[in-house]
Formats: sequence, structure tokens, C-alpha cells
Amino acid sequence: SKVRIYALAKELGVETAKMLEILDSLGVQYKSSSSTLDEETVEAIKTILADSSSKAEDAAPEDSSVNASATQEAAPEPVAATPPVASNPTPAPQPSAAQSATAGEERTLAAQPAAVTTTATELPHRAPVVTIMGHVDHGKTSLLDYIRKTKVAAKEAGGITQHVGAFEAKTSRGKVVFIDTPGHEAFTTIRARGANVADIAIIVIAADDSVMPQTREAIAHAKAANVPIIVAINKIDLAQANVDKVKQDIIPLDLVPEEFGGETIVVGVSARSGEGVEDLLEMISLVAEIADLRADPKAALKGVVIESRVDKQMGVLANIIVQEGTVHVGDFLVVGEKYGKIKALTNSVGDRIKDAGPSTPVQILGFSEAPTAGDTVTSAKNEHQARELVAGRTQDRRDVEEARKGRRLSLDDILGAPGDVHEVNLILRADTQGSLEALQGILARKSSEEVKLTVMFAGIGAPTEGDVLLASTANAEIMCFNVTASGGVKKAADNKGIELKSFRIIYELIDEVDRLIKGQQEPVF
Ligand code: GDP
Repeated sequence: SKVRIYALAKELGVETAKMLEILDSLGVQYKSSSSTLDEETVEAIKTILADSSSKAEDAAPEDSSVNASATQEAAPEPVAATPPVASNPTPAPQPSAAQSATAGEERTLAAQPAAVTTTATELPHRAPVVTIMGHVDHGKTSLLDYIRKTKVAAKEAGGITQHVGAFEAKTSRGKVVFIDTPGHEAFTTIRARGANVADIAIIVIAADDSVMPQTREAIAHAKAANVPIIVAINKIDLAQANVDKVKQDIIPLDLVPEEFGGETIVVGVSARSGEGVEDLLEMISLVAEIADLRADPKAALKGVVIESRVDKQMGVLANIIVQEGTVHVGDFLVVGEKYGKIKALTNSVGDRIKDAGPSTPVQILGFSEAPTAGDTVTSAKNEHQARELVAGRTQDRRDVEEARKGRRLSLDDILGAPGDVHEVNLILRADTQGSLEALQGILARKSSEEVKLTVMFAGIGAPTEGDVLLASTANAEIMCFNVTASGGVKKAADNKGIELKSFRIIYELIDEVDRLIKGQQEPVF
């Protein structure tokens, strides 16, 4: 019988990432950790693990002098010597070019286990932070509600869960933190300020509606942030649900479901009946394991504000997620150009707590002014240092404003910005699907060896403020064909220094793109 990789990892009590390393060392091909393994491979893995654990047990000091790569994990070593491996039909370990070409990141990591694992394993794991995005009415809120209701340890009689902007769900494979505000605007607002809070994005797509405009937007935003995507096909309880259609419809969006040979994990769920939600949580843990999320609770504090508000009685309440280090009651925190001393910390089930480590959402009482979502939180040793930090930041901001004054951000500024050389990122907007496809078809041929042209997002209709946010985080320009931006969107683009151009003739738009590409090419001397 066949068994999935992650299931086997669970059964044998090893991390999925470790299991993938072993498979790599065996030369076993797989698409992802939910791929299945045949019996023979499973046996081989079991033998290797049994062998390596017995080795580890009687690993005497002189043992390490025998093995030159003592820091390397034991498993890959005995592989070649173990008989069951030889009987495995798949070829022996050979990091051939063909293999590494299809391999992707996981394998690149696995190729140098010693270097990667020794530094990483010193830090403890942290829970994944997950955001739920998707089209309106596809069930984002319902899904969050269902998970909150069933997976958050209910407080003792009458307890009220506190809204701290995120909640912690307990799953069979550990804690998962869900951001409470669904939608890509919140996600990208945070990103626009330089912070990335989510480790995984769940894209919810209703099975009776399939891919809709905001589905595409959400996917573009998650991709721009380089966050792994899991597709949750919701409302599978409905009679008119068409799961297969959704699976087909996401393929052109570069999300090829595993069953079609792709890498995208797709889970059918019902936020109404709860069907599939357990699987979804399992997949989240799986993706998190592969990402090998770790953080140092002893490091200098780093957190992100996810939202803040002013309560009539309590005063300013800031909801943050700790990313590194630990916050303690009494700490001085600096957020943007504000600072405060923590008077109280509250966790997501409403308990007053004294401290909170990585991947913990908490509410902080102690700021005198509300900080902004997306601001990074750091700590200061004392009030004096906190004041100095704030003063420094205020000065920096003024300097930047001064420099910008009277001089609009020009194309040259954008082209000259470090880090984006040789890349042109675009957001396309057009009046019809036909014109959008025509544009994309022409632009697809524009990428060259020298300059990479990426269409971050292509949508029908006028550009939105979400597009502007995406453009600002992805360093993109917005190009419109036969659609016009509203005043609000124009202003938002202006404020953020985003180029937003409209064209009535396709070839004028293409010419403009050509100019952008030329600007990115290395000058020839
Ligand atoms: P959001 O806009 O994406 O947050 O969507 P909501 O969670 O508000 O859901 C929109 C509508 O779909 C509501 O009427 C929900 O009751 C309904 N809905 C959400 N999930 C499901 C589901 O799994 N099955 C069914 N039948 N209805 C659902």
C-alpha cells in the first residue's frame, strides 16, 4: 500500500524536512511531501532510520573521528551500505543536473545538510502565522470562525476571547497562528511598511463560484510576498459545488494542483460543516515543517503591529505578533516614531500574561498613541534609549521628506533604485479579457536574458488601491489600457511614488514597456 511522505514522517517521528533529505539521498523522485511512496522505499527508510538511531546511540567519541563529517546528520551516511537500498529500484544518490533542475529549493537545502541544519537546529521551532485571503463571500470569515470555534481552547465558563488581531489554534501537529483580518488589503498594508507577518497564505475559493477577480489579486499578493500558498476550496457541502472546475481554473494562475503533477496543495473544505478543515490544518503544519520556521526567543525583540485602536476606558491597545525575542511587561517598546512602556500584555484567549515569545499574538497596553499596522516593534533598554531611537527615526523621516520635496519620484529614481536592476515588474489593467490577453501575449516575449519582465498581476477593470499597495511592495509600475484610475487611486499612487500610466493604444503601452526594459539593460561601452 502507498503512504504519503508526510504521513510516514509523522509515523516514524521525524520531521518532514528530514524525511525529504533521506529521500534525496536515496535518489527517490517526489513532487512534494504529500507525494506517495511505494512499500519498498518505505522499508528502506525504516531501515535507514533504525540504523542511524542505533548508530547515534552507541556513538562514542572515537566514532566521530572515523567519520570526517561528524556534524552531518547520520542518516544519509549509511545509505549506500544498507542492503535494502540496493534493492530499491530507484537510482543511487546522484545529485545529477537533471535532478537538481527539477528539485527546487528543498533539494538545494538538502544538498548541504551539514551547513544548513547545524546552524538552524540551534534555534527552537516557532508556530506558523497564517493569513486567509480570497474573493468576497467565498467564506474567509466563516472558515476563520470555524477554526476559532473548534480549535481554540475554550476558556472556563463564560470566558470571553480577546480580540488581539490573531488567534492560536491547537492542532494535532502543534500551534498555528491565524491572522484575524482576512483579505489581502490587510496583508499588503503590513507588507507595504516593510514587514512580512504571514508565513503561509490560504487562498479560499468557493466551489460554486471558482476563481474571481479578488482571488487573482490575493494570489498575486501572496506571490509578491513569496509566501507559500495553500488553496482551500470552500463550500464543498453545496450541491452546485464544482471542485474540479476550481482545480482547473487555478492552473493558468500558476497554481498547479498536486494531482495534476504540480506543487500546489489543494484542500476541499466546508466552513459550514467543518469537513476537510482538519486536513487543511494538517497541510498548514506540513508546509510549515518544510519551511522549517525557527526563531530565537532570546534575540533582540522584533515584532509587527497588526492593528491598533483606542479604547475609551483602556486607552491605546496595540495588537502585535512577536517574531523574534520575547516581550515582557515593563519593557520599553519602540514602534515607528512612538514608544511606550508595557503596562499589560494580553494573549488571544484573554489571559493577562507576563511575557510572550516568537509567533505569539498579544495585545499591548502602554502606548500613548496608536501605532500603525505594519510597523515594526523593537525594544529599548530604558526610556532614555527609547526616546533617542524615536528622535533618530523622526529625523530620518524628515530628511527623506525634505529630499523628496519639490521633486516627484521619477522614472530614473525607480530605475536607479538598487536591488531592482534588470527587473521590470508590471501590474496590468485592461478593459476586457481579450485586450488583457493580447497584452500579456506580447509582453510574454519581452523578457530577455538581461532583463526579466514580470507581470505581477493582470486584472480587468480600473486599478485599485490594492494594486497600488502591491506595486509599492513589489516595486512595480501600473499600466492601464482603456481604463482610467479613480482620483483616489491616482492620489494613492502619487503618495507612494508609483508610476501609473494609462494608454488608449496597445502599442503605446508596449513601447513604454520597451523603454523600461531598455532602461534596465547594461549600457554597452
Ligand atoms: P468572506 O466574505 O469571504 O469572509 O465570506 P463569509 O465567511 O462572510 O461567507 C459568505 C457567505 O457564504 C455566508 O453567507 C456564509 O454563511 C456562506 N458560507 C461560508 N462558508 C460556507 C460553506 O462552507 N458552505 C456554505 N454552504 N456556505 C458557506
